[in-house]
Amino acid sequence: MALPELTWRPPQPPVVDHVTPSLLATWKQCQLRAGFQLDPVTSGLHKMGLRAAVGIVAHAVLERRFVSQNEFEDAWAEESSRTYKHLEREWAPASPPTPRNWPRWALTKHQVARRVVHDRAGNAIVTAPARRAAPGQLVRSPATEQADRTPGLPWRERWLEDHVIGLGGRPDLVERSGGALTVVDFKTGQGDMTDDRRDQLLIYAALVHSSLGELPARAEIRCADGGAHGFGIRSEEIDDVLRRTASARALLNEAAAGRRALEATPGPETCPSCPFRLACGPFLQSYQPDWVCGHVVAGRVRGTGLLGVQRYLDLDVVAPHWRPRQLRLIGLAESAPEHGRLWSVSDFEGISATGFARWNTLTWSWPE
Ligand code: SF4
Repeated sequence: MALPELTWRPPQPPVVDHVTPSLLATWKQCQLRAGFQLDPVTSGLHKMGLRAAVGIVAHAVLERRFVSQNEFEDAWAEESSRTYKHLEREWAPASPPTPRNWPRWALTKHQVARRVVHDRAGNAIVTAPARRAAPGQLVRSPATEQADRTPGLPWRERWLEDHVIGLGGRPDLVERSGGALTVVDFKTGQGDMTDDRRDQLLIYAALVHSSLGELPARAEIRCADGGAHGFGIRSEEIDDVLRRTASARALLNEAAAGRRALEATPGPETCPSCPFRLACGPFLQSYQPDWVCGHVVAGRVRGTGLLGVQRYLDLDVVAPHWRPRQLRLIGLAESAPEHGRLWSVSDFEGISATGFARWNTLTWSWPE
């Protein structure tokens, strides 16, 4: 069904001079989403989530060594507090949950402690299981730490960029492990080697090649629980990822110059995780009630008020067409928009004519 009241504003990405692993992964899912991510008008809708916050805390302590559990506890608390302040700034005026309530925070803390708490002789204080390694995988040991022969290695979270091949990225670790130059990405959740993760590691390998003049021989994902997955890097795979990133960059830059439109691929697989749903015309045209995603509504502001201390907002719903024609949204953290504005909201509770805002409810004012 057409939605005549919605003035569709396609994203207007700036010229891109390098493609990162995350941009390539987004591009493969939906070109339009990549455009929203790059457009400064909409990029702020993509905010840090709680799982990402746990990952940032884990990354910050994973490559360090602690000689007591207390030392580790202090570092974990400090990094959690730092990341929480970042979350608070991103989501203001909403109040995000505190670190103890983040998903997998306690489990990840336990797993990371097993990796990084050692006594002064280098023995694990928190007993860790023997590191699993699949056949052919390399396991890093204190001896291999010593084997870094290239000046400056290991590199930890070093930003690498090459405008000739048009790539940028920040590998978690580049080291010489067991004699093999290796790029490593740390994961706090599942460590499966998906296509996107493989591309991510190949992009890092291409960047290391351009910086060091040596192509890494290995790529690995290492998990907080000690698991690892890796593969040997072949130059044909690097050529393939370079071809695909060059194509994405060229098409994005044609869109930036206004010579082509970015393709939208709305659907129940692509859209649910997309933070730009509330600004996306193709999504609102296609959105169906059985899509498993946070609710999204666009409507005209009919009124606002207070219920006790809670601010509410009444909308005449324009999209999706299958929602009740009116929505009262209770508990909005931010200031009420003007009466008559075309406005949208995502990630609230409720499928009836009453909805309840959450700390991570997003809003967007449509251009008119
Ligand atoms: S909501 Fe769906 S169609 Fe729109 S940008 Fe996001 S993934 Fe693409």
